[in-house]
Amino acid sequence: MCHKSTVYEIEVTEGCLPLDLSCPNGCSLMDPELTIHDQPAIRLKFEFEGHTGELYLDAIYGRYHSIVDTSIPPQATVTFYCPTCNAVLNHETARCDSCEAPLFTMYLPDGAIHYVCTRYGCHHSYIVSIDGEIEYHFIKKEDTDPTAA
Ligand SMILES: [Zn+2]
Ligand SMILES: [Zn+2]
Repeated sequence: MCHKSTVYEIEVTEGCLPLDLSCPNGCSLMDPELTIHDQPAIRLKFEFEGHTGELYLDAIYGRYHSIVDTSIPPQATVTFYCPTCNAVLNHETARCDSCEAPLFTMYLPDGAIHYVCTRYGCHHSYIVSIDGEIEYHFIKKEDTDPTAA
């Protein structure tokens, strides 16, 4: 049986693959008013130990610059919500291959689902197309320091 695999580790370069993401209810998560490196940032609501706030993630896939408005301790796992409709974005069962924390999901315009680890600093993520193929699988390089971004 020929199984067409599209899994690969992407070499991330500046300007590659900007994401356009929505919550499960279709609210755009992109904030055109707050940009990171000239791209609209991904705006998310989060909850960590009873504290809620908003944070912004880089919309370039595989690049993890972020703006966090409160101090989430490194390695903490958080719950993400849509800042517009409050839908919980954390997946009920999907877990990170790397650290076993829950994953959260965001949707691309073509119906593909972007899974991202909820552990601050883990950065493990992948994108599954509408027909179930893994399109991109980002694995953190050993020499990257998540706290430096
Ligand atoms: Zn929403
Ligand atoms: Zn993880």
